[in-house]
Amino acid sequence: MVIVIGDTLVGKTSFIHRYVNNGFRVDYKSTIGVDFAIKQVVTSSNKNIKIQLWDIAGQERFTYLTRAYYKDARGCVLMFDVGSAASFHSVRKWKADLDSKVRTDNGSLLPCILVANKCDKVPAVVSDTEIQLMCEELFFVGWTKVSVKDGTMVKESMSYLLDTVLGLS
Ligand code: GDP
Ligand code: MG
Repeated sequence: MVIVIGDTLVGKTSFIHRYVNNGFRVDYKSTIGVDFAIKQVVTSSNKNIKIQLWDIAGQERFTYLTRAYYKDARGCVLMFDVGSAASFHSVRKWKADLDSKVRTDNGSLLPCILVANKCDKVPAVVSDTEIQLMCEELFFVGWTKVSVKDGTMVKESMSYLLDTVLGLS
């Protein structure tokens, strides 16, 4: 299971929808509680796996989640909006929350990628250098810029995370 976290409106629900259904809508209603979607994927080592993506719909305003949300997570997508400095600053809080509540079976940090969404929007208020530094400082397994709207790098970022979770990279 992969959990998708980050501030409200950064594009988490759209990301899951894009990845699972290859669609994009502008009119998502925010839902309360956790929603999830399932996708069958073929990994880079040609394994067929089913992944479950969890959306923290409606819980973002707390900027922290209960342990129950993280319990079954094997990987995490932490998303912010490149047009919102506030959402970038929240990355620190989200990552601290994650790392304080969940570990892998062997006690390491849960593999988590930092995803900078809405790269179709200009100008970006968060620079690549700032993202890179945040990535290193907080021990993300990697970072990438995506546009859920255009579909840019959505699949690729998930493949990278899955490979890391499965120990392939
Ligand atoms: P969530 O609150 O994090 O689940 O965010 P949503 O998925 O509900 O998206 C919030 C808003 O951002 C919606 O109006 C989306 O259409 C819009 N949005 C999501 N991804 C992108 C993107 O890549 N580019 C642009 N321009 N807008 C996006
Ligand atoms: Mg949402």
